[in-house]
Amino acid sequence: MSDCRRKSAGRDGKNDGVLDFDSCYRAMASRDTRFDGAFVVAVTSTGVYCRPVCGARTPKPANCRFFKVPAAAEAAGFRACRRCRPETAPSSPEWNVRGDLVARALRLIAGGTVDELGVAGLARQLAVSARHLHRQLVAEVGVGPLALALNRRAHVARMLIESSTLPLSDVAFAAGYSSIRQFNGAILAAFGRAPRELRRAHAAHDTAGSGPLLLHLRFRPPLDGEALLAWLRARAVPGVERVDGHRYHRTLRLPRGSGFAELDLAPATARSGPAVGRHRQVPVRLTLEDLRDVTAAVRRCRDLCDLDADPAAVAETLGASPALRARADAAPGLRVPGCADAFELAVRTVLEQHHPPERAARLCGRLVARWGERAVAPDGEPDRLFPTARALADADPGALGLGTRQAAAVHSLARAVADGALALGQDADRETTVAALRALPGLAPWAVARIATHALLDPDVFSAEDPALRRAAQELGLPRDPHALAREAHAWRPWRSYAAMHLLTATPPA
Ligand SMILES: [Zn+2]
Repeated sequence: MSDCRRKSAGRDGKNDGVLDFDSCYRAMASRDTRFDGAFVVAVTSTGVYCRPVCGARTPKPANCRFFKVPAAAEAAGFRACRRCRPETAPSSPEWNVRGDLVARALRLIAGGTVDELGVAGLARQLAVSARHLHRQLVAEVGVGPLALALNRRAHVARMLIESSTLPLSDVAFAAGYSSIRQFNGAILAAFGRAPRELRRAHAAHDTAGSGPLLLHLRFRPPLDGEALLAWLRARAVPGVERVDGHRYHRTLRLPRGSGFAELDLAPATARSGPAVGRHRQVPVRLTLEDLRDVTAAVRRCRDLCDLDADPAAVAETLGASPALRARADAAPGLRVPGCADAFELAVRTVLEQHHPPERAARLCGRLVARWGERAVAPDGEPDRLFPTARALADADPGALGLGTRQAAAVHSLARAVADGALALGQDADRETTVAALRALPGLAPWAVARIATHALLDPDVFSAEDPALRRAAQELGLPRDPHALAREAHAWRPWRSYAAMHLLTATPPA
């Protein structure tokens, strides 16, 4: 059940999957940013659905219906609000945090998998039947995979109509429509206006041509941009990533070609003053070899900066811990950076077992220089993709330029990924992947935990064996003994990955 009307509102509060009418209504009336993306509100008197933070007048309770996902509101006949733009809301923290079938399916659909592989391909990737997947999604969010994918397509199209200067025919193609007619019809149905009208209403674009796409990625504030930049700067792989000032640049390996992203974290670095609260978006400039990769590129950037996080929920738990309260209060917007390339992150992590982050990144840079292919690169540097697992699996381990054991570890990791024995990334089943990583030689359990944190985006990972965490814990007066530290960390569930970030960023690496 995903739709929630006044009369049918469940009051027992036992089932987390059901939206509670009264709490949804309260959240909407207060315009609380924490709930942005967690549900949408449809107004029966206007036929329009909104984000809970929409600035429009608060509708009467009798006119409200709440849905977990925009696609369910559209399936019930509502149009997306033109003012609050539901497609720009951060994704629901719930799907970001959960690692089960429905959450993985929603992430894949949001990343464009159905456009790429169809519903059957999506089901195959998740190792279930298309029927089972459909039933599960309908039970949880009210609509099946195809409706979710069509909704996503319309919203990507609208984002491109309004945020880019691409000709409308290119927008249709990039968003995944097979004809202009289909595109016009879908946009009209979803938003009540034709593409041309939507573009005219956003005629602020003075630049002509089809240069890089400038998009704005929303997040639930606060966001600690400085901490994010410091983390990325220390780990930037030469040739692939570069940080200068508040800007982060990197190449992207995307389903259909290469891409390049430039994220401007300056709006997110203002910690106080009038800027806080006003800037809830990260501007990103994308250059893509194939425009149809726009969804996948946005997904990578969002993951990299953990933009779907729910900082208020994290702060509530960690702020209640005597050991972490000061840290949590000092850095309420601390994010757990994800990654744009899970294999790259895993290789870097193998090397971080033996080297400080900067050195590990430099060693990765050697692999890039030798095996990384060229990527589209508007700025000259960086201009390489991180090598594929296949390229490193086929290379002679002795040629990797690493110590014998490290080379063997990187090589077996590459082979496992290239052979399909190990699936990294957001569609992977976390338990299966962690088990496969643990079976690899040369990877300590705490390094596996780091990969689970940053590549699988598991928000609740904490390895008390991690030497950097133990060191940091000791400096904060926490036990250094792994067993005692692990017990302490129990209080930080389900946000132990954020607790680990607080510890790691509290002390500079030794
Ligand atoms: Zn609205």
